[in-house]
Amino acid sequence: MPHYTYDDWKSRAAALSIEGRAFMDGRFVDAASGRTFQSVNPATGAVLAEVAECDEADVDRAVAAARKAFEDGRWSRMAPGDRKGILLKLADLIRENLEEMALLDSLDMGKLVQDAVTVDAPGSAHFFQWYAEAIDKLYDEVAPTGPGDLALVRRVPLGVVGAVVPWNFPLDMATWKAAAALAAGNSVVLKPAEQSPLSALRLAELAAEAGVPDGVFNVVPGYGQTAGRALGLHMDVDCLAFTGSTATGKRFMEYSGQSNLKQVWPETGGKSPNLVFADCHDLDAAADMAAFGIFFNQGEVCSANSRLYVERSIKDEFVARMIARAEATQPGDPLDPASKMGAIVDEKQTEGIMRFVDAGRKSATLVTGGERVTVNGKGCFVRPTIFDDVAHDDPLARDEIFGPVLSVIPFDTEDEAIAMANDSVYGLAASVWTDDLSRACRVSDRLMAGTVSVNTVDALSAQTPFGGMKQSGFGRDLSLHSLDKYTALKTTWIKYRT
Ligand code: NAD
Repeated sequence: MPHYTYDDWKSRAAALSIEGRAFMDGRFVDAASGRTFQSVNPATGAVLAEVAECDEADVDRAVAAARKAFEDGRWSRMAPGDRKGILLKLADLIRENLEEMALLDSLDMGKLVQDAVTVDAPGSAHFFQWYAEAIDKLYDEVAPTGPGDLALVRRVPLGVVGAVVPWNFPLDMATWKAAAALAAGNSVVLKPAEQSPLSALRLAELAAEAGVPDGVFNVVPGYGQTAGRALGLHMDVDCLAFTGSTATGKRFMEYSGQSNLKQVWPETGGKSPNLVFADCHDLDAAADMAAFGIFFNQGEVCSANSRLYVERSIKDEFVARMIARAEATQPGDPLDPASKMGAIVDEKQTEGIMRFVDAGRKSATLVTGGERVTVNGKGCFVRPTIFDDVAHDDPLARDEIFGPVLSVIPFDTEDEAIAMANDSVYGLAASVWTDDLSRACRVSDRLMAGTVSVNTVDALSAQTPFGGMKQSGFGRDLSLHSLDKYTALKTTWIKYRT
C-alpha cells in the first residue's frame, strides 16, 4: 500500500471529476423530471455534486432495462465462467481506481480516507473477486428418484434484484448486494442512500467498462420516500435486498405485501453487546478492540459494540483504559492520514447523536467526550463519548445511536451478563472476552446474535455469513449463503424410457 500524505489527498480531491447522473441501460442519464439534489461533504459543508433525483418514473425505466437484459439472456444465460471473467475485471478496475473510490466515500459521508483506502475500497474489490471465483464452482443437484425419472434441482437467478443500501459503508454495502446478485446471473437496480450516492455511480461505470452488459447493473440515486419506495412497490422487481434501519426494513416487508410478494431480505439495525469477563488476561487487547468496536467509522456501524458489559471486579480499571483510548481517537479532517476519526454523515445524524448524549448526561455518568466539535471551524464532528454506570433500561443502552457513544454496564455473574445482552430487540452481533474456553463456548452459544466474536470484535469475512436475528433482520450477506437470496430452486423433471 502506498504511503499517502495529507497533501496527496487534498490534491486528489481537488482534481476529482464527480458524476452525479443516474446510471441506466449502460449510460449516465438525468432524472426524467430533471430534478437534482446536492451531495454535501459533512466535514466542510461544501457541495460535491448535483445528483439526479430519481423517482418512480426513473425506477420504472431502470427496472425495464434490467428486465429486458434479464429476459434476453445477455448476462443471465452467459456461462458462469464468462461472468466470472467480467467480474474479475471489475475487481481489477476497482483496485486500479482505489484512491478515487476511497475519496468518493470519504468526501460523501465523512469517513477517514485512510480507512476507505485500506478497508472499504479493497474490500469491494475482494468481494467482487470472491463471488466471481465462486460462481463457476457451484454444482446443482440430481434428486434420488427412481429409474425412468431424472429430476434436476437447480439454482436459477431470480430476475430483477432491487438493492437499497445505507450510507455508512456506501461502496461496500452496494458491493455486498451487487457482487452476489450479479454473480448469480441477475440484473440489479441499486438505490444508494441519498447521503452517499457517488461511489455507487462510479462502480456502475466501472462495471460497464469491465464488460457487464447494458441494463444489467443500474443505479438510481434518490430519496427513500420516492425512489426507494418505488423499488419496494414495483410489480416487476423479484427480490429486494435491503440494508438500513429496522423501521425502513419493516416498510419494505409492507411494500412487498402491497405489491407482488417479492422476496425481501432485511439487514437492519443493531445494539451489539461486548462482554468482558475478569478472567480475560489481556485487558489491553480487549480495550483496544472495544474502542475499535465503537469508534471505528465514527460509530456508524450496524454491528458497533455499543453496549460494554464489564465484570464488576475489573470495571473501573477497564473504564480507565477505555477513556485513554477514546481520548486518543479525536476527530480530525477525514483527508488527513493523522486523523483518528472522521465526520458524522450529516447535520441530522449529528443532532440525533447529541440528543442521546444530552439526555444521557442526566441519566448516567459521562466520563469522556459528549461534545460536538468542528474541524478547521467547520463540519459535523462528535468526540468519542463514554457513559459509565448506564442503567440497563436507559435509552443509551437500548436504542441504536449510530454514533461514537459507548454505554458501560457492570455485571456480577455470567447469567446476568447473558440475560442483559440478550434483552434487546436487536441481535446482529456480540463479543465475548474470556480466557476460559468453556465459558467462551457456553456464552457464545447462548448469545442471540448472527455473529458472536470471541476475543475479538466484529469478526467478518467473505467466507462467513453476516446478518442478524430478531429485529436486526434475517437477510444474510457474504459467503455462499448470500447466493440463496438471489436464486430460486427450480426442479426440472424428465421422464425417460428405461
Ligand atoms: P435508513 O433505513 O434510513 O435508509 C437506508 C436506505 O433506505 C436508504 O437508501 C434510504 O434512502 C432508504 N429508505 C429510507 N426510508 C425509506 C422508505 N420509506 N422507503 C423506501 N426506502 C427508504 O438507514 P440509514 O440511516 O441510511 O442507515 C443506518 C441504518 O442502517 C442503521 O440502522 C444501521 O444499523 C443499518 N445498517 C445495517 C447493516 C446490516 O448489515 N445489518 C449494515 C449497515 C447499516
